[in-house]
Amino acid sequence: MNRIQILLQRAAKAPLYRKKFAHLKPGTVRDLRSFSAKVPPTRLEELAAETPKSAGPLSPRLCAGRGPRAIFQLEYDTQPALYVALDRADLRGYVEVLKHCWSLAGLRKGDRVAIFDYGTSPLSYLAASSFTPYLDRGAADLLGCLPVCNDGVANMSPRAVEILRYVRPRVFFIRHDCLHALAVEIERQALRLADYTQALVAAENESLLSDAERSSFEKRLGVPIYRLLRIDAAMFLAMECPRCRMLHTRRDSYFVETLPEEDDAAESPLVVTNWFAGNSPTVRYLSQVRGSLKPSGCPRGPKDLRIAV
Ligand SMILES: [Zn+2]
Repeated sequence: MNRIQILLQRAAKAPLYRKKFAHLKPGTVRDLRSFSAKVPPTRLEELAAETPKSAGPLSPRLCAGRGPRAIFQLEYDTQPALYVALDRADLRGYVEVLKHCWSLAGLRKGDRVAIFDYGTSPLSYLAASSFTPYLDRGAADLLGCLPVCNDGVANMSPRAVEILRYVRPRVFFIRHDCLHALAVEIERQALRLADYTQALVAAENESLLSDAERSSFEKRLGVPIYRLLRIDAAMFLAMECPRCRMLHTRRDSYFVETLPEEDDAAESPLVVTNWFAGNSPTVRYLSQVRGSLKPSGCPRGPKDLRIAV
């Protein structure tokens, strides 16, 4: 309850939420159930529509009185472009989630990790303090891993293969749209990917590889591929667990709901509330990703939130 109060008070300092939540009378939101029932979800389109009306290029979610340190453009095709603002504490909260994802992927002290993704992806900018100003400790610093980053664009696949050959990362994070180009390059050089890495983690903002795509790439590349879900507008990350094959994330970092729909589908859109984002609060962000919530209890993360997709 305290958490909800803090979040709503914080959100009241942001132009978008002040307007959206003006109808909520004090005392209306008493618990998570009334939070879900009374607080309206926010869509990406609303963030884009509100941006020109706000004072700067940042999202209308920016809280007055806070001092953002790092600003990243979000990977959405909206007009205007959307940004997210983070301070040291936000970065600290976000990196805890990435660290959790890395641990679930099996990364331990001394492991090498390669990241083939954009610099504006949280997979890159939360990896190491040497990459990002104001990030006190990245996932690699916290776990004692050695990270290597390269821009995740398909025509850089030959370089990605060089990194694989010479760095031999235990896990290789890659954008979906680079998987095909990587496979082509591996085949061109007649390499066996399993000689250079143990697993790929495929990620994209608000999108997941389908099971069919995954098994086709696993067959082609000969290593397991796990999926990592990014919902960048909500500063959300969830990692597919190698054991139960569901997405895991930290319960302390998020409240996740599914939005019931009329068509009775097994999977509904995921709605994410972020507990740690102070500069750009995320209150019931309605994502484009569908899934269903599952009870906790996987041995690899007994307290984790679990989502089947
Ligand atoms: Zn699991």
